[in-house]
Amino acid sequence: MYPEGRSAFIYAHPDDETFMSGCLIRQLADESLKPVLLLATRGDAGYKNGDYADASREELAAIRDGEMEEAAAILGLDALQQLGYPDGKLNEIDTTRLASQIAEFANTYAVESLFTFPPDGGNGHPDHVAISRATTLAFESGLCRSVRRLYYSLSPAMALEGRTPDLTLEVAKQWKVKAAALRAHDSQKYAIERYFGNLGEEVQMSRRYEQFVVIYKK
Ligand SMILES: [Zn+2]
Repeated sequence: MYPEGRSAFIYAHPDDETFMSGCLIRQLADESLKPVLLLATRGDAGYKNGDYADASREELAAIRDGEMEEAAAILGLDALQQLGYPDGKLNEIDTTRLASQIAEFANTYAVESLFTFPPDGGNGHPDHVAISRATTLAFESGLCRSVRRLYYSLSPAMALEGRTPDLTLEVAKQWKVKAAALRAHDSQKYAIERYFGNLGEEVQMSRRYEQFVVIYKK
């Protein structure tokens, strides 16, 4: 089930957008559907994942802002907003407040489709779980006036439960773009290599699809 109208991608950290949906974002951009991205944090706690172990949180946040700008240009994002909550502590933020900020963003861009993590965050990361919960609440609250569909990335746990994707993209078709956007997030390169391998000519078999399920539609 392909998204109609404008799509918003709602995630926790810079690089989540490329991990989960880099190919989809680029494809929507190529179709002039003007995808937009909202990030809850600036990724200021991700210092273990690259060569910036000595950076302060503020220094790392500034580095990651630059990386995110570069990735946004590669993916063709039409707009990017960062809420700037502390990385790693998103589950301490009031869900209702976060949901209302998500709704405000969706309304600003007249978004019709919302994409986020599944309830388990894909990998259990508490920030991912928190942003999934808040995005779901934003949809359920009815505050997102133009939104008609909510998509989750298909997590391994959901697949094991027998859930099948409603939308599948073959990463191979856009791998060069996705790999370039991943490379832009240089401060996270160790985490990226753990997940995607060495970003060579071809995508690893285990990462060959971006898959999404439709949770709600109006
Ligand atoms: Zn993340």
